[in-house]
Amino acid sequence: MNILAIGCHPDDVEIACAGTLAKCVKRGDKVTVCHVSSGNLGHVIIPPDELRVIRANEAKKAGSLAGIEVISAGFDDLEIYDNNKEARDKIVDVIRYANPDVIITHNPDDYMPDHTAVSRLVFDASFTATLPNYDYPRVFSDENTPPAKLVPIYYMDTLAGVNFNPTEFVDISEVIDL
Ligand SMILES: [Zn+2]
Repeated sequence: MNILAIGCHPDDVEIACAGTLAKCVKRGDKVTVCHVSSGNLGHVIIPPDELRVIRANEAKKAGSLAGIEVISAGFDDLEIYDNNKEARDKIVDVIRYANPDVIITHNPDDYMPDHTAVSRLVFDASFTATLPNYDYPRVFSDENTPPAKLVPIYYMDTLAGVNFNPTEFVDISEVIDL
């Protein structure tokens, strides 16, 4: 199976579902992680331009340890809005490229505006990406990339515990050391 996890900042997916993703790699799935934003505002001392590079390198390294491809949609923190064609098209491009059978992303009731925007964008783009004649700027996919399948979306825990009632649990004991 192809698994696509779309998190906003470099660390969201890693904190909330890296164990699940590592397990998927172990059983033979192809796993792609997309960070929509650079995480450039995530530190109180390190300036944004420096932090953007540090976090991109950390994300690639973390992904390679687990056998996961890591890509970025190229936004900066707090510049992501869900009702936005450019942003939706970027997620369409990522979904077509990864050709997922399952998508994992943020819960719609998350506590942070970038997270809730990404949740909505992924929901909307997952439908848009299935339409054969939909045109969009291609970065990762190309003219020959087929439309995506309409697939289940799983939401990650919000960490803040707001309105999140999990219905699925994954035992990650076997990959906890990684
Ligand atoms: Zn985040």
